[in-house]
Amino acid sequence: MSARCEICGRAIHGQSINIEVDGAILIVCNSCSKLGSPKKVMKKVSQSSQPSSTIKYEIKEIKFELRRDYFKVIKQAREKIGLSQEQLGRKINEKPSVIKLLESGKLKPDNVLARKIEHSLKVELLVPVESE
Ligand SMILES: [Zn+2]
Repeated sequence: MSARCEICGRAIHGQSINIEVDGAILIVCNSCSKLGSPKKVMKKVSQSSQPSSTIKYEIKEIKFELRRDYFKVIKQAREKIGLSQEQLGRKINEKPSVIKLLESGKLKPDNVLARKIEHSLKVELLVPVESE
């Protein structure tokens, strides 16, 4: 007994190949097997479709950016609490001149300094930015 290719109708010599064409399983010859995706019928019926190792994770790095009106935020928060520039300076271990420069917008705090100010004044100076 020799199987016939269900696509071209020729007798299949050697091993017949099962392929899937539009959801239907066809037994075809070697040359017609390229028309569909090969099906391994020897496998169990309940096979998982995709191995989980192919899942890719995209981790977005969150970057923080100093807000543009940081000097206003610092000044307003400091005055609201009732601290002088000297007192705030002592609190975060910086010179009053640094506070003055910060509040005038002439000095941008680095992340470490910004975090210190955020904690002592309960404000947000660093805002997350979406990176592409
Ligand atoms: Zn064929």
